[in-house]
Amino acid sequence: MVALFDFLWFDGKLLGVEWSAWKVVGWLGNAVFTARFLVQWRASEKRKQVVVPSLFWWLSIIGSLLLLAYALFYRRDSVMIAAYAFNWIPYFRNLLLHHRNKLTRQFCPAPDCGVASPADARFCATCGCKLS
Ligand SMILES: [Zn+2]
Repeated sequence: MVALFDFLWFDGKLLGVEWSAWKVVGWLGNAVFTARFLVQWRASEKRKQVVVPSLFWWLSIIGSLLLLAYALFYRRDSVMIAAYAFNWIPYFRNLLLHHRNKLTRQFCPAPDCGVASPADARFCATCGCKLS
């Protein structure tokens, strides 16, 4: 218990970090950006194929914008600014493509299926479930 406390609290600070509002923004950006991998991994394991859900792109946009704000207004670090200045563009584009694609398809309502079919399909090609 003492070792855990020593790990969490040292140099008189939580994790030894000099905390400020911008540090919270930076760590939040890191947490959101990292969470997208967990979301994508879980979605892929669930379907047993590579799946990139729209939540992945939302987390990518939010995480990279938080990290860009941290880089621009707190760190003023050109390397970090360059790393996050433009990557929201393909994330946003992928989200838009996701949305457009979703509008032209319907998804199987069966709990363990969820496979996408063309909008005019009457039955799921994977499990045979009737589509609405
Ligand atoms: Zn199905």
